[in-house]
Amino acid sequence: MTQGKSYIIGLTGGIASGKSVATDFLLKQGVHIIDADILARKAIENGSEGESLILEAFGTTDRKELRQTVFENKINADKLDAITHPIIIRLIEQELKAAKKQGHKVIVLVAPLLFECDLQRFCDQTWQVSADIDIRIKRAQSRDTASIGEIKSIIARQLPDKEREKLADKVIYNNDTVAELERQLVLVISG
Ligand code: ATP
Repeated sequence: MTQGKSYIIGLTGGIASGKSVATDFLLKQGVHIIDADILARKAIENGSEGESLILEAFGTTDRKELRQTVFENKINADKLDAITHPIIIRLIEQELKAAKKQGHKVIVLVAPLLFECDLQRFCDQTWQVSADIDIRIKRAQSRDTASIGEIKSIIARQLPDKEREKLADKVIYNNDTVAELERQLVLVISG
């Protein structure tokens, strides 16, 4: 890692792969985190440009209704992405600029769609968190209220682990305990 300059790591992985657990640990290690999911919510918050564009396109801003619309129809999913992704990317750029200005040495950009949205262009290095699909489905089900159909539809819209593993500089496997995940994180961060 270059002295004085911020070093940006892009952290990705599919649904329920363990990105948030990894992020919580990295935060405790003093790493600065930029979370694309938080910015995705900010992109469509009350009074935002994203909210009015969605209202115009879908006639509603109700999250549950939108989730259903997108789940049922890929054209609508693409339409929603076309509205939100440019706003999210702009917010990421702003956060990165601010974090660099604040002098953070290591910045981790956590983004489920890091490669799909070409966010690796902002990063010096990329990490992929992988876990078997059946394990991820079980973890997702015990974590959220989403149906198995919704979870599978999200998985279908994300790149498969094998593809992300080819694109990433480092791969972290999370089929085991959280302690094992943390052990690997210590190795990759010091490497
Ligand atoms: P998403 O992209 O869907 O938000 P994520 O990649 O951030 O998911 P997490 O929220 O970190 O995934 O993990 C999914 C669930 O699995 C959480 O409830 C988390 O506590 C649990 N989990 C993650 N890793 C492990 C592990 N190694 N052992 C047991 N449970 C785990």
